[in-house]
Amino acid sequence: MADCLFCKIARGELSTDFLVETDQAVAFRDINPQAPTHILVIPKKHIPSLAQLQPEDQALMGELLLLIKELAEQQDLGDGYRVVVNIGRDGGQSVDHLHFHLLGGRSLKWPPG
Ligand code: 5GP
Ligand code: ZN
Repeated sequence: MADCLFCKIARGELSTDFLVETDQAVAFRDINPQAPTHILVIPKKHIPSLAQLQPEDQALMGELLLLIKELAEQQDLGDGYRVVVNIGRDGGQSVDHLHFHLLGGRSLKWPPG
């Protein structure tokens, strides 16, 4: 999508450093980290939110979760970490392109606010 921030990032238009890039996904550090490690993992495909997922996205979602697991290993998050998807306004979603937050490097509280 032309004017979507994360589509622009995925296309490399904002010179974002990628921790990982695959055919279908990219991972990069959150600009406003909420933990010592705060990485965003996104599909290159513009999917506005988890609420708009389609059956044909099933394999893509599996790839993203495996990528998150590999990133967590690379980032030495063996003591634990959290994967968060915010959905819609009440869910706290501020960028309308599906993204997984990978948070770790400190003891995370529960429940979130
Ligand atoms: P959400 O609130 O939609 O779940 O998460 C969006 C995340 O994107 C926020 O944590 C925010 O800090 C991050 N973010 C917003 N704009 C940018 C940007 O231009 N670059 C990066 N790396 N992260 C961004
Ligand atoms: Zn997008």
